[in-house]
Amino acid sequence: MTERGPLGVVGGGLAGLAAAITAAQRGREVVVWESGAIGRDKVCGEFLSPEAEDDLDALGCGDLGAALSPARLRTVALFGAGGARLDLALPGRPALGVTRAALEAFLARRARDAGATVLERAPVRAIAPRPPGALEIQSPAGARAVAGLVLSMGKRSTLDAPLDLPRARAERPSFVALKAYCAPARLEADVELYLVPGGYVGVNPVEDGRIGVCALLADDARPVWSTLEDHAARHPALERRLAALGAPSEKPRGLARFGFGAQAVARACPTTGVPLLFAGDAARLVPSFTGDGMAIALQSGRLASLASFAPDPIHAYRRAFSRAFSARFRAAGALHGLFLRPPLFELLAPLVGRAPRLVDMLYRATRG
Ligand SMILES: Cc1cc2nc3c(=O)[nH]c(=O)nc-3n(C[C@H](O)[C@H](O)[C@H](O)COP(=O)(O)OP(=O)(O)OC[C@H]3O[C@@H](n4cnc5c(N)ncnc54)[C@H](O)[C@@H]3O)c2cc1C
Repeated sequence: MTERGPLGVVGGGLAGLAAAITAAQRGREVVVWESGAIGRDKVCGEFLSPEAEDDLDALGCGDLGAALSPARLRTVALFGAGGARLDLALPGRPALGVTRAALEAFLARRARDAGATVLERAPVRAIAPRPPGALEIQSPAGARAVAGLVLSMGKRSTLDAPLDLPRARAERPSFVALKAYCAPARLEADVELYLVPGGYVGVNPVEDGRIGVCALLADDARPVWSTLEDHAARHPALERRLAALGAPSEKPRGLARFGFGAQAVARACPTTGVPLLFAGDAARLVPSFTGDGMAIALQSGRLASLASFAPDPIHAYRRAFSRAFSARFRAAGALHGLFLRPPLFELLAPLVGRAPRLVDMLYRATRG
């Protein structure tokens, strides 16, 4: 990848927009292809960790708090189906509750202000080799040659099979998720997490006071609302919470089916040698329970973009990715397994509640 050729970015989510801002700020021509409209709702708990704020600072977007007035999240209460409850105070700065719609619209404005071209409703249909040293990105918005590529197309994409990502070969996804918003309400903690077998339901406010409800559930191939209702019937605290929130103010947005696991970090296009750098969920979806996926998306997008300027982008990015995220993925995977087994949570919650330093340590471990 040379500094002279344009950088292409496939996917205008957090990772892609962070990559675009970084490259544009350094004077590189950069084009983002986003298949949908930017600023739409996405399935996400919308818990923006304090580390994400550091990443936003690094992008020159540290004024997000002033611009979007997010909810400040300082306390978390976890509820087990058997009545166990664990109350935690988040160490350090508060996390933020902000909708993906507002956050991504904000970042897209910043990317354009920095000089990036951000194409919306422009799904990339194919990536064709154009030797020597270029790739042609083909979308309904036309075809365009790029000298380097950041692939940040999220947890599932029509490009998974052409790019031969492991998830394209998975028999069927193992998780299903949904997001809904309810009218403002008083919660028992800033963030409530209801643990169910193999998943959880997160409840927290966003910038306009509405309460976001986000469920991540083991996929049983049924409509996700039925699965959620069944879990609630066996989880009194969850049942009470959903009843108190009432019907979502609008119909639930976004359903997603997916699995966790490593996909690809960096590789060269076999015909042209152009480096393909994967960022955000396209590289690896972190267990969402730890609420750090957005920070990882922002940081990996920035790191991929910075690596694209290095003499050996593939090596530079692999090293930076591993240094930044290996420990976080390990810790998040371990916690995911621990908390999403309800009997284990019922057993451990009283002990963990009496060991605030342990909680602090675990929380920090998932954050690098
Ligand atoms: C249920 C759930 C709850 C979560 N809760 C939290 C949380 O509370 N806090 C947190 O920090 N993280 C959370 N996460 C994780 C977080 O949402 C993700 O890690 C983050 O969205 C990753 O951003 P991204 O830019 O990689 O992907 P995305 O935001 O998915 O962006 C990818 C973009 O690529 C586009 N695209 C795909 N294919 C193409 C194509 N062919 N051409 C052009 N564009 C394409 C898509 O339209 C999409 O906009 C949660 C995840 C789940 C599943």
